[in-house]
Amino acid sequence: MFTSFLIKYAEIGVKGKNRYLFEDALVQQIRHALKRCEGSFEVHKTQGRIYVDALSEFDFDETVEQLKTVFGISGICPVVVLEDQGFEQLGRDVVSYIETVYPEKNKTFKVAARRARKNYPMDSMEINAEMGGVILDAFPNMAVDVHNPDVLLNIEIREKIYLYSIIIPGPGGMPVGTNGKGMLLLSGGIDSPVAGYMIAKRGVKIDAVYFHAPPYTSERAKQKVVDLARIVSRYTGSIYLHVINFTDIQLYIYEKCPHDELTIIMRRYMMKIAEHIAKETQCLGLITGESIGQVASQTMHSLAVTNEVCELPVYRPLIGMDKQEIVEISEKINTYETSILPYEDCCTIFVAKHPVTKPNLNVIKKHEQNLREKIDELMETALETEELIVVS
Ligand code: ATP
Ligand code: MG
Repeated sequence: MFTSFLIKYAEIGVKGKNRYLFEDALVQQIRHALKRCEGSFEVHKTQGRIYVDALSEFDFDETVEQLKTVFGISGICPVVVLEDQGFEQLGRDVVSYIETVYPEKNKTFKVAARRARKNYPMDSMEINAEMGGVILDAFPNMAVDVHNPDVLLNIEIREKIYLYSIIIPGPGGMPVGTNGKGMLLLSGGIDSPVAGYMIAKRGVKIDAVYFHAPPYTSERAKQKVVDLARIVSRYTGSIYLHVINFTDIQLYIYEKCPHDELTIIMRRYMMKIAEHIAKETQCLGLITGESIGQVASQTMHSLAVTNEVCELPVYRPLIGMDKQEIVEISEKINTYETSILPYEDCCTIFVAKHPVTKPNLNVIKKHEQNLREKIDELMETALETEELIVVS
């Protein structure tokens, strides 16, 4: 019975030119998401509203699921579209709508008519009052409540008549692409896919970089990261995944630096390389899945030392979250099952038994001097041999 959806979005902060950019990006993201559904749809802006009209048979649940992945949508309202065949017929249609959608029929309600087509013979106040009467006559157990109704029945009079009352919550946020682009350091763990999701929710488009260390990390571990990128791309649109071979750099650090400082020095080189790619691809910042205190390399001291190599801002959306909170989001966005697959990631191979938790920047820098002979060349080679995978 539903053949259209009215898309609601939060309008706070989207005024003037921004509003129009926001709406256009939203329309584009909706079209992109609906490509994954059976059926064909038209997405259009009409009088400051966004509608999705089904042009063919479609699967309601699947379509709603896809719309729920589009950041910027605050609510999805399934709409019944009726031909204008006079008020009496509209009354009959409204009654049968309520019968279908609210079979218990014991709700409080309010009619909210909106007459966008001015030649309709009744104004909105009259429609509200008359339709209220029709509903009360048909369902004696229903009652009007204008302040806090269970059912807010919207009737919009346009060329056709749009009837809706259900609001399915959307993911909120802002449409991807309205807030620049960031480079996500994506590993196979639980945290970084969630970090990517959260930044994308604020309208940021995402590219990603993954450091692997063959043969210490397997092809399956890499495939897992590609799979995670694919799941995240449901929300973000296609992701350019830069795969960097980090083996020689890692072995070199292992050879030349104290082992309790391996992780932190490695992390500094990951950041440097990620930043290099970010700058070349117009990314405005780096994004990681770090959270204070989660592991030795994520103490305040360690984060300060890692951060020291970066010129671009580093965004860490999970910084104040507990593991359990992060796990909950990863379950919600469907990355959890993939993240916990037991393939080694490149850090676990070279982890020291007792990594430093309070690294001293000067000491670290001094030990990095041991790398000066070959590190620039190794970084260049790593960048030159990158593999680019477009994930969508
Ligand atoms: P995650 O669950 O995201 O792997 P983690 O708890 O395992 O995080 P670390 O291994 O210390 O934490 O990594 C911290 C962050 O550094 C990750 O969230 C990710 O952004 C980045 N990172 C770590 N390893 C890699 C890698 N091999 N490739 C790309 N980024 C990485
Ligand atoms: Mg990890």
